Amino acid sequence: MIEKEVVLEVKNLKKYFPASHKRVLKAVDDVSFTIHKGETFGIVGESGCGKTTCGKTCTGILTKTDGQVLYQGKDVHQMSKAERNAFTQKVQTIFQDPYASLDPHQKVYQIVSEGMRIHHLTKSKEEEQKRVMELLEMVGLNAEHATRNVHEFSGGQRQRIGIARALAVNPEFLFCDEPISALDVSIQAQIMNLLMTLQKERHLTMLFIAHDLAMVKHISDNIGVMYLGKLVEISPAAELYEKPYHPYTQALLESIPIADPDLAKSRGRHFLTGDVPSPIDPPKGCRFCGRCSKCMDICREVRPELKEVSEGHQVACHLYND
Ligand code: SF4
Repeated sequence: MIEKEVVLEVKNLKKYFPASHKRVLKAVDDVSFTIHKGETFGIVGESGCGKTTCGKTCTGILTKTDGQVLYQGKDVHQMSKAERNAFTQKVQTIFQDPYASLDPHQKVYQIVSEGMRIHHLTKSKEEEQKRVMELLEMVGLNAEHATRNVHEFSGGQRQRIGIARALAVNPEFLFCDEPISALDVSIQAQIMNLLMTLQKERHLTMLFIAHDLAMVKHISDNIGVMYLGKLVEISPAAELYEKPYHPYTQALLESIPIADPDLAKSRGRHFLTGDVPSPIDPPKGCRFCGRCSKCMDICREVRPELKEVSEGHQVACHLYND
């Protein structure tokens, strides 16, 4: 069997923030996962579950509280200046809101070419211009767009500009932080298709954050379901949709409309009620306890740990204890 190359290894990562009255907000609380070269790991969960904070901590945008994040074996939070410079070129972010992440008064050319200049990737002005045009074409824009200001573009086009900016520095890894959730539904599929095509063509490794399981279905190799700062289920993508174990994953899947009535019937109903509790004072036992229809006495007292239920598929739920 060919050993897959590990690109990102996250070990027991914690990211806490100080809250009022000397309390602590545990946004990411003991999270571990691995991403192999050329693969996409999707993290899914409702707003406030800690998924974006997790992504930002993994990519060094935020400092960590504890644990370790290794990128190609190097600790992301303990890099030398030279290592960090190389890392910021290799690892690029596609942001959630293309209206907020791009300066509306800047020209597209300036935005796309800036990273190339910072990292000295082109030898001449001509080469830089040629590269910008290639990138714009790659993301479905054209040369005429280069001289226009960002505010002249729609949300979908702005996200294409954001993708061109990220690709301009020849990254190996993309952190996609809910890149389609701020876009019209009609545009979402176009951007997803673009990202999937680019990933294949450029052999990119990706960490993809989304708030619903439908968004990451086709792009992910593996998926982690996050609830209140913890990963409650990690699975190969196809298996997660066919055989979800955790009641929270089942509820998230229930919220996706299914066209096939037989499949819809076989899934059963696991409605998600109530809101995500505060990560400042999470429940003592299972954090999903207050919303889980299968909650047992043990769930209120003992926090379930992730356990392997089949190869590569782990779940944190007392229903699956031996
Ligand atoms: Fe529900 Fe208990 Fe499983 Fe938590 S551990 S998801 S409360 S059954």
